[in-house]
Amino acid sequence: QQKPPRCAGCGIPLQSEDQRRPGYVPASSIDKEEAVCQRCFRIKNYNEASSVAVDQDEFLKLLGGIASTDSLVVHIVDLFDFQGSLISGLQRFVGQNPILLVVNKIDLLPPVTNWNRLRNWVQKQAREEGLKVADVVLCSARKNIGFDRVVEAVNTYRQNKDVYVVGATNVGKSTLINRLISDYSDLKRELTVSRYPGTTLDAVHIPLDDGKSIIDTPGIVYAWRMSEIIPRKDLAALLPDKPLKPLTYQLNEKQSLFMGALARFDFLEGERQSFTVNMSSGLTVHRTKLERADELYEQHRGVMLSPPSTEDLETFPAWTRHRLRIPPNTKQDIFISGLGWIQANGKSGAVVDVHAPRGIKVMLRESIL
Ligand code: GDP
Repeated sequence: QQKPPRCAGCGIPLQSEDQRRPGYVPASSIDKEEAVCQRCFRIKNYNEASSVAVDQDEFLKLLGGIASTDSLVVHIVDLFDFQGSLISGLQRFVGQNPILLVVNKIDLLPPVTNWNRLRNWVQKQAREEGLKVADVVLCSARKNIGFDRVVEAVNTYRQNKDVYVVGATNVGKSTLINRLISDYSDLKRELTVSRYPGTTLDAVHIPLDDGKSIIDTPGIVYAWRMSEIIPRKDLAALLPDKPLKPLTYQLNEKQSLFMGALARFDFLEGERQSFTVNMSSGLTVHRTKLERADELYEQHRGVMLSPPSTEDLETFPAWTRHRLRIPPNTKQDIFISGLGWIQANGKSGAVVDVHAPRGIKVMLRESIL
């Protein structure tokens, strides 16, 4: 049996089937001498990092190698999908190496956000997930906010070490690495990518001027995020690109909200109170009586209640129900991974149901705002 050829840059086996997976090369180039994968090609020729994705098992194999290195681990998370994009098992795999938590996409929160409070919230949430971080930096790679602080923190904690950048998919890792490349390397010099000695780590090395490297690892795919299971054509509607416009609904018990055909929220029990939906403005929320909700869904799924479209719903996972009890006198978010969150504003508590596709992470958390 013939082994597949490997990338002359990162060493990954080459393939021509899937552009989003590591090792992709157009079929016409796969048998060339010194063929490099698309990801290495773009770094080499355009100084540009691009995203590839792997599943959890592959990713954990890759992380295991970090413990035996002396490096800084930069973990990028998406503020919009914090509990969905945090790699909670990271601690075990990085050994003694410090973790710098970079929280991206802060441009999505209102400009009046209390950033100190938010930092504390991030620290607390990370701790609750078992992650000990050396520092937290808030930024927006897209809007170029806080980026100086990222570079500063990387310098502080790097101390002439290699930098591993890890994150889930769609957290903005490539956007951020591209900023790091332009800040750290002399762009007049051609970037080269080098094979990681002795392993088949599918990680791209970007050399720094001091002989060390930034190591771009593939994005980990978490199937519990709505952004991973939604048809790709609907992803733009799901991922917000402008500051969230919170929508507040005054609800009586036994009222329901549909978020397209992606999820449904039922306010089952509690005093009349307000709930604030924080989701992409590309999604439409429909409000109805609980007793009408099933019927509305049957009649309008895929059309008025979309995305997904009628056709895509045929292969979309069925909903499961999550019953959540919101204790009185707390500020809680009903978090639906990849979709956003609904803030419960009542003082008196509530019982709610969330219907979401099977496998999607749904949870109560201390309110982010
Ligand atoms: P990767 O998969 O982690 O490499 O993520 P990308 O860099 O490809 O970004 C994923 C998506 O998030 C793209 O649609 C980006 O435009 C968007 N994105 C990246 N950084 C930011 C940010 O700071 N704010 C917002 N709102 N979107 C961002």
